[in-house]
Amino acid sequence: MKKLVVITGASSGIGKSIAESFSKNGYPVLLLARRANLMEEMNLENSMCKSVDVSDLESVKKAIKEGEEKFGKVDLLINCAGVMLLGDSKNQDFAEWNNMIDVNIKGILTGTNVVLKDMVERNEGTIINISSIAGRKTFDNHAVYCGTKYAVHAITESIRKEVSNSSVRMITIAPGVVETPLLSHTSDEGIKGDYNTWKETIEGGLDTKRIVECVEFAYNMPQDVCVREIVIAKTKQED
Ligand code: NDP
Repeated sequence: MKKLVVITGASSGIGKSIAESFSKNGYPVLLLARRANLMEEMNLENSMCKSVDVSDLESVKKAIKEGEEKFGKVDLLINCAGVMLLGDSKNQDFAEWNNMIDVNIKGILTGTNVVLKDMVERNEGTIINISSIAGRKTFDNHAVYCGTKYAVHAITESIRKEVSNSSVRMITIAPGVVETPLLSHTSDEGIKGDYNTWKETIEGGLDTKRIVECVEFAYNMPQDVCVREIVIAKTKQED
């Protein structure tokens, strides 16, 4: 059997497409997100679905332990869970900032904390963090979201250097706009409307399949090759 792939944020959007594709290609998959019903409805072969909040280390640890007991050690962890709560900083609730920091930053650290040491000791394994183009440049109304994604870039690259003498690969994938429900959680209707109007000018976001292809391209390289970062966006996306 192929080695275990763990995907956070597997109940929706990019994470869901990644989980479907790896399962179809014969990998055992551990799906993590809060909405277990959505993951279970996918009914993927060789899968285990666990309802976890990715910012909670103990529940992520417990879920990964159960996944490993059933399918063997994690070979690929894809940290995809994220929230984008756009806002005007002077009006935005602190709770929204807090949520983005918890999910987008702590949420990539929990799974990493659980698997990294073991991967280094085994001299194998790959961690792919889904960041954003908003982790490379700033955008209006994205202050804290950008901050969290800059952190994803910085953390991934720093750990990559730390573990580079083992065979463990740390990879950042930074998409521009992708067609998913991500924006729907933004509470400011005006900002949401402006974003959707702008999105029409680029004829919509990328299909999630394009991000799956990036993940598979990077993962399927030989273990001694690390595709450190992929930045991908619609050709018409100027910024
Ligand atoms: P979706 O809203 O479709 O998916 C977000 C996923 O994150 C869901 O599965 C959700 O599951 C999960 N999630 C959110 N909060 C938590 C939590 N506390 N604990 C566990 N899981 C959580 O958005 P996308 O697929 O677009 O987003 C995936 C990633 O891609 C994010 O990191 C996002 O920042 C990034 N990205 C997206 C872009 C886009 O334009 N769509 C562009 C660039 C990057 P549940 O609610 O069930 O817990």
